[in-house]
Amino acid sequence: MQSPIEYLTGVSQVKGELLRKELNISTFRDLLEHYPLRHIDKTQIDRIGQLKPGTEHAQIVGMLTDLEIQGEKRGRRLVGHLKDDTGVIELVWFQGIPWVQKSLAPGKAYVVFGRLSFFMGRPQIAHPEMSLFREHYKGKSFLEPVYPSTEKLKAKGLDGRSIGKFTAELFRRLSEKEIPEILPVEWLEKYKLCERYQAFRQIHFPSGLQQYQVALRRLKFEELFIAQIRIQMIRSARHRASKGVLFDKVGELFNDFFHHHLPFKLTEAQKRVLREIRKDVGSGRQMNRLLQGDVGSGKTMVALLSMLLASDNGYQSVFMAPTEILAHQHFNTISKMLGSLPVRVALLTGSTPAKDRKVLLEACEQGAIRILIGTHAVIEDKVKFKDLGLAVVDEQHKFGVAQRAMLWKKNLIPPHVLVMTATPIPRTLALTAYGDLDYSVIDELPPGRKPITTTHRYEYARSSVMDFIREQISLGRQAYIIYPLIEESSKLDYENLMRGYEEVKSYFPEERFRISMVHGRQSSQEKETNMLRFKEHDTQIMVSTTVIEVGVDVPNASVMLIESAEKFGLSQLHQLRGRVGRGAEQSYCILMTGPAISRDARERINIMVATNDGFKIAEKDLELRGPGELEGTRQSGALQFKLASLVEDKPMLEAARHMAESMLHHDPALETAENQRLRNFLQSQPSKSVWSKIS
Ligand code: ADP
Ligand code: MG
Repeated sequence: MQSPIEYLTGVSQVKGELLRKELNISTFRDLLEHYPLRHIDKTQIDRIGQLKPGTEHAQIVGMLTDLEIQGEKRGRRLVGHLKDDTGVIELVWFQGIPWVQKSLAPGKAYVVFGRLSFFMGRPQIAHPEMSLFREHYKGKSFLEPVYPSTEKLKAKGLDGRSIGKFTAELFRRLSEKEIPEILPVEWLEKYKLCERYQAFRQIHFPSGLQQYQVALRRLKFEELFIAQIRIQMIRSARHRASKGVLFDKVGELFNDFFHHHLPFKLTEAQKRVLREIRKDVGSGRQMNRLLQGDVGSGKTMVALLSMLLASDNGYQSVFMAPTEILAHQHFNTISKMLGSLPVRVALLTGSTPAKDRKVLLEACEQGAIRILIGTHAVIEDKVKFKDLGLAVVDEQHKFGVAQRAMLWKKNLIPPHVLVMTATPIPRTLALTAYGDLDYSVIDELPPGRKPITTTHRYEYARSSVMDFIREQISLGRQAYIIYPLIEESSKLDYENLMRGYEEVKSYFPEERFRISMVHGRQSSQEKETNMLRFKEHDTQIMVSTTVIEVGVDVPNASVMLIESAEKFGLSQLHQLRGRVGRGAEQSYCILMTGPAISRDARERINIMVATNDGFKIAEKDLELRGPGELEGTRQSGALQFKLASLVEDKPMLEAARHMAESMLHHDPALETAENQRLRNFLQSQPSKSVWSKIS
């Protein structure tokens, strides 16, 4: 299975190199796991005369009557015609012309497959897959695999069908022994899974549709199960190995704050998460916990209480925010909440003046500063702690794995880590993407919040939208107006924003209206000043790009107007909307778009209008975009499956997770004889995935 692909008959050095480069196939096993895109049933033949627009793919058998190069330079193409008893169809190639021309012979019969289009009313197939017609296909159901290929490979004669020749050769070479069963045998019967060797055979060369589906099911399950076993083993290894600092008491600081300074009652979800955290930090192991909670669910308070717990146990904490604005905001709210309590909190960002920085770094190293809040400035080497016990990372997806890892080195025993994210990820997905982390969720908003009313408005309704904002402002509220940010501080975005700003000013010319603006080209000082003015209600309108996206808390703001809303992704829209609805007033989110928007964009907007539930939105986002695109999961290889789909195969994923759990529960290191094969398999195939591992 580990043999280099060149050992296979028919794979030359050149082809081997190409397979490696283009499809990442370098061993027999890689080829075995290069699954067909689809199968072509050779008995299903379309007749040219009956082809209609709207038919997506066609398979035709006919005689190739002619083949010639037409046009010049950019218009150069190879054109041929295929004829059956009912008509003629045009075949055309724009790429790989020399090779195609060499490999085809006019006068012979071919089976032709491809995407059908109509050009001036005549049927045409561009870049068809061609194979010589052989009499023995006739009458027999014969499912021929078609594999993913690339333009480069096709140009060298390795199209979706010819790769199948290699796979067929592979099965001639491999015996059943070389593809042994790895799942417990009793599972196969119990869960109606076919045996492994058969599954591989049938997925490539099925004897029928039903056999194909049985094979597919088995291999999908295997894929999900193996991923789950791997993640869970990583997690339990971490649990066993990682010694952590011990927070075993609740002390004066925590109690004093909790009983005398807490500005509200904690929600049940906040309490539950706090219990989960306390269990971790009191266990002697290092905590590595992901805390997920919708925007506005009150994660900051959970972080603060955890930091007070650290302080009570003699440890310092660091709280890292993704932007300067957020770091300031956290510093201000936390300082205010703590009031006169005896705990020193400091702020460190890129724009902390050198003089202050020096003093601050010293105080931090001596342990005088108990809670350090800041941007990624806090992970620089110069920042040293006396005894760092807890690191909180806010809005996790803005930080890279490497940045987080730098925190570890700041204490002899690595500090506990609490990673917080407001991007809701469906639970199943989270358990896969972050399976090596422990996971908590705040699934409840603080009481008294009125659901935000969301509407979709077209450009032509602008003046009535502006009237509405005016109305809200006269009621004492504030409004955000957000412009898309395609590229941080790009010229176009900037001009867009400026135009928007001028326009907003023209709607609100009176003296009493004041407007703040925040964008990527400002210094952090400017950003901060503008933000602060808005926060303190010195301005009523905040015009901004999405730099405002995460975390900003201005409870008095009640309108979120999102310009060109069609340009935003679902999770981003949801994040932005979360900036309002934080106070007691009814809040509004207005999604403004041009008249013509794509179907996808319309769907996103409809979802936003229909629900405020971040988890529902995340599920939808997953359906619309697939897991690879989900915010916060992009770096996680754990979500890249070849066969399984996290949307369609969710029940199977759940099952695989449970089965992995129960297997490891009974046999944590997979040492028993019956799990021997599985263990060998896991060892023989090191994981290619990059886990979201942070320790
Ligand atoms: P996020 O989870 O988005 O970071 P925050 O921590 O910023 O949310 O909290 C959002 C707002 O809700 C803040 O103004 C905070 O003071 C308030 N809040 C948090 N927890 C509660 C609670 N249990 N009851 C009432 N208000 C709360
Ligand atoms: Mg927050």
